[in-house]
Amino acid sequence: MSSETTGIRSRLTEAEEGGARACPVCGSGTMNGQGLRACMDCGWSSSRQLEVNGGVVVRQQTQPTRELSGSVCLVTGGSRGIGRAVARRLGELGGHVVVNYRSSDDRAEDVRREVEDVGGSASLVQADVSSRGAVREMAEEVRDSVGSVDVVVNNAGVTADARFENMEFESWREVLSVNLDGAFHVTKEFYEDVAEADDGRLVNVSSVVGRRGNLGQANYAASKSGLFGYTKSLALELAEHGSTANCVAPGFTRTDMLEGIPERVEEKILDDIPLDRFADPGEVAEAVAFLASPRSSYVTGEVLGVDGGMSR
Ligand code: NAP
Repeated sequence: MSSETTGIRSRLTEAEEGGARACPVCGSGTMNGQGLRACMDCGWSSSRQLEVNGGVVVRQQTQPTRELSGSVCLVTGGSRGIGRAVARRLGELGGHVVVNYRSSDDRAEDVRREVEDVGGSASLVQADVSSRGAVREMAEEVRDSVGSVDVVVNNAGVTADARFENMEFESWREVLSVNLDGAFHVTKEFYEDVAEADDGRLVNVSSVVGRRGNLGQANYAASKSGLFGYTKSLALELAEHGSTANCVAPGFTRTDMLEGIPERVEEKILDDIPLDRFADPGEVAEAVAFLASPRSSYVTGEVLGVDGGMSR
C-alpha cells in the first residue's frame, strides 16, 4: 500500500473518530447523509477500493462476480448478435454456456472462444429450434454432455418483413415457427430442469415491436407479443417450484438483424428513440444476465424493456 493511501486511511480514521463531516480525500464538507460513506464532491466512497495514481484517487476495476458458477445456461441463437453477447456475459459470470445455433458453425466456434477468453466455459449445439425433433435431439446431447440446465434463454429469432397485403402465409409461419414455436419446443425439453433447479430461470427475448407493433412486421410483432403471455403464464407455473420466467424486450439493437435498413428509415426510427441511438448487444445482454442471475430472485412474469425509452 502506498504512503498516500495510508495517509487517506489515517485521515479517514481521524475524521470518523472526531465525528467530522469532511471528505478524507478532497476535504470538502459534502459527505452524504450516511456519515462518512460517500463524498458528493469528488465521488470518493469508503466502500470503493482506492488506487492512488500520481496523486489522483481513482476507482479500481472490481472483478466481475461469478454468481452463475455451477449453473448451466442454454442460449438459443447464441452464434451472433444479442445471443452472442448473452453467451459471453453469462460465461463471464461463471456459468457453463451451451450455445445453440442453426447454421453458423464458425461463428459459434468464435463465441466459444470468446466465452473462454472471459474465463467461462462453453459447449456448442446445432439445432433448428423450429423443429420439435431437432430440439429433442439437442436436449439429449445437452443432457449427455453437461447434465441438467438451470437457465434457458430463448433468444433465437428471425424476421420476414412485408406489408400485410403482401404477406404470405409461408412467411407468417416461418417467423412464428422460430420465434414462438421455437420457444415452446426448447422450454418443453428443459422445463423440468428449470423447475427443479435451485435458481431456475427462463428468459425469453421478445421485442419492443411486440409492445408497439411495426409497419411490415405483423408476423414478427405477433410472435413477440405472444412471448409476453407465454412468459407470464409460465411464471405462474414455475413459481410453484420457486423458479422464475421473464421477458427482455430489446429495442433496435445493432446486429445482423438490422442490416440493410435504408438510412432514411434508420433516421425515422432514431426520431422515435428518446436516447437517440440503437442499443449495443451488450446492453441487452446485461438485462438478460440480471434476469438469469440469483439477483432477480423476486422478479417474475416481468417484461424488461431495453429500448432507449421507446416503450415509456
Ligand atoms: P441475429 O443477429 O440475426 O442472430 C440470430 C441468431 O438466431 C443467430 O445466432 C441464428 O443462428 C439464430 N437462429 C435463427 N434462426 C434459428 C433457428 N431456427 N434455430 C436456431 N437458431 C436460430 O439476431 P439478433 O438481432 O441478435 O436477435 C436476437 C433476438 O433478439 C431475436 O429473438 C430478435 O427477435 C430479438 N430482437 C432483436 C432486435 C434487434 O434490433 N436486433 C430487437 C428486438 C428484439 P445462425 O447464426 O446459425 O443463423
